[in-house]
Amino acid sequence: MQDIQALKDYLNTPKKIVITTHANPDADALGSSLGLHHFLVQFGHKVTTIVPNSYPDFLEWMPGNHLVVNYEKSQDVADALINDADLLFCLDFSGFGRIKRMKEVASNTPAKIALVDHHLNPEIIPDFNFWNDKSAATAELIYDLINNYSGKDSINQDIAECLYAGIMTDTGSFKHPSTTSKIHRTVAELIDLGADVNKVSRFIYDTNSLERLRFLGHALAQKLEVDEIARVAYFIIEEGDFKDFRLKQGDTEGLVNYALSIKGIAVAAIIIEREKEIKLSFRSIGDFAVNKFAEEYFNGGGHKNAAGGSSDLSLKETEQKFKDLIEKDILNTRIK
Ligand code: 5GP
Ligand code: MN
Repeated sequence: MQDIQALKDYLNTPKKIVITTHANPDADALGSSLGLHHFLVQFGHKVTTIVPNSYPDFLEWMPGNHLVVNYEKSQDVADALINDADLLFCLDFSGFGRIKRMKEVASNTPAKIALVDHHLNPEIIPDFNFWNDKSAATAELIYDLINNYSGKDSINQDIAECLYAGIMTDTGSFKHPSTTSKIHRTVAELIDLGADVNKVSRFIYDTNSLERLRFLGHALAQKLEVDEIARVAYFIIEEGDFKDFRLKQGDTEGLVNYALSIKGIAVAAIIIEREKEIKLSFRSIGDFAVNKFAEEYFNGGGHKNAAGGSSDLSLKETEQKFKDLIEKDILNTRIK
């Protein structure tokens, strides 16, 4: 939190602030953005949260959801706000490639930039830096930022629930290796400050549509490939599956974890055919760094044990490329 005093000095008069986060926002992206949003408005700043594209229904409960500007739907309004801003907060991403079509306007804005993120190898060079790859979630960094800025009493129930959602999901419900005692102390504070943990987890995890559950059964029965020698398991999801099961954005979230949960499996993937591109998610247990793998072969990145990327090839070609890489890269790395 080395730049906290500089940020406080800069924000000592009301400013025009835009908060943004990565495309296909998840609970940490949206929760940290809205948590920070609710904090900053308390000081009289004009704050707008802009997302590059839409997010799943199960995040719409978040306080402030109705205030969020979707760049894909309101590009002109969003461009004007970004060009006119004094300060642009970049949350939960650290390379402008992660904000898709917003890249152009965001990377050219005259606004100062504050970076709050926990992904490896940051590309953005900010004026105010709150990057820390040891953090479990950007929401944890926002908690620390607020705590250092004006103390935890500035955290109301809305902020507490947004931040709790980000920490809960980015730690895999307090299961990932990133789950430190500090994380537990942080969420304990958030609960004391009003976060209703049962409400948040119900909204995020227990709001399945029947179609989504039927799809889960279908995917587990028909779509899961396992290579026991390489210790890799992966799903291939076609566009037709989205139509057959009337899936919505976010309905494939978490599926990859079922592949990783198979006893003996060390690397898991899901390859999803989307309208405009093929999206890949990777997970691993132990040493195999999926962020490096995603970066090298699929134009992506992320964390050592959870990463993602994309492919411009067809679904079949992407699957073949991945299968070849299992032999060439994943198996070799393990045998070494
Ligand atoms: P998920 O698989 O849940 O979409 O993402 C897992 C992790 O990888 C997250 O930290 C996410 O930010 C990162 N990630 C996902 N997709 C991409 C991508 O296309 N590029 C980069 N650089 N990171 C990604
Ligand atoms: Mn995150």
